[in-house]
Amino acid sequence: MMNEQSMNELAIIVLEDVTREYDLGGQVIHALDGVSFAVQQGEYVAIMGPSGSGKSTTMNVIGCLDLASSGRYVLDGYDVTHLSEDDLADLRNQKIGFVFQNFNLLARTTALENVELPMMYAGVAATVRRKRALEALERVGLQDRVHNRPNELSGGQQQRVAIARAMVNRPVLILADEPTGALDTHSTEEIMGLFEELNRQGNTIVIVTHEADVGAHADRIIRFRDGRIESDAPNPRRIVTMPAVRGRSDG
Ligand code: ADP
Repeated sequence: MMNEQSMNELAIIVLEDVTREYDLGGQVIHALDGVSFAVQQGEYVAIMGPSGSGKSTTMNVIGCLDLASSGRYVLDGYDVTHLSEDDLADLRNQKIGFVFQNFNLLARTTALENVELPMMYAGVAATVRRKRALEALERVGLQDRVHNRPNELSGGQQQRVAIARAMVNRPVLILADEPTGALDTHSTEEIMGLFEELNRQGNTIVIVTHEADVGAHADRIIRFRDGRIESDAPNPRRIVTMPAVRGRSDG
């Protein structure tokens, strides 16, 4: 572990020749076919590509939700390759803040309680939990919606709660899967502005998306095709949005 840290101190993600195969009773699907890339601390990366190109499989490997068939994955200095299910779950909870297309909030639970949840799993004391959840909700501009339940919030607001929840354990990586897939144009811009703000504050962000407008906000775009990386390059036309955070909760 120390060796890995010293080899590449700022790398949050290192994938080396990763494959993922599915055996469908005789026919082997190469969902990932030798994928290598690294993401350094503070980067903002979009993973793009057509349907079936391997984006979700990559996201599952990066998110410690699935293991590679071969190759190596190192997350924040921890070699994930041979971890048990339990260790994988622990690492996932400590290191990664997930943001999903459909927000994945608990329905009968307030924004505040939703954001407190990961800290309950992490064993954070109740008073500290409350304080940090309120701070996180303020950071995403929802300080006057903390007692609302998901069905009392717009899609954009629900995704902001989910982002506050993703941030609250101070993960080394924010991993977002089509985070604006369920949002209208206005809310999409707002959420992309929020990701930009979080990235400016030093957070490492990886977004999986098939939407060009969404990928355009990232610093770097990794394009997949047929389970391989087709291109991996800085984004020459990066869109910068004014972040719609702090003191606002409409939208
Ligand atoms: P994307 O997210 O870019 O649409 P995926 O990573 O979901 O692509 O899929 C990559 C390839 O792997 C596709 O050919 C898909 O059909 C296949 N695949 C993904 N998950 C499974 C699975 N659980 N079983 C069999 N094949 C799968």
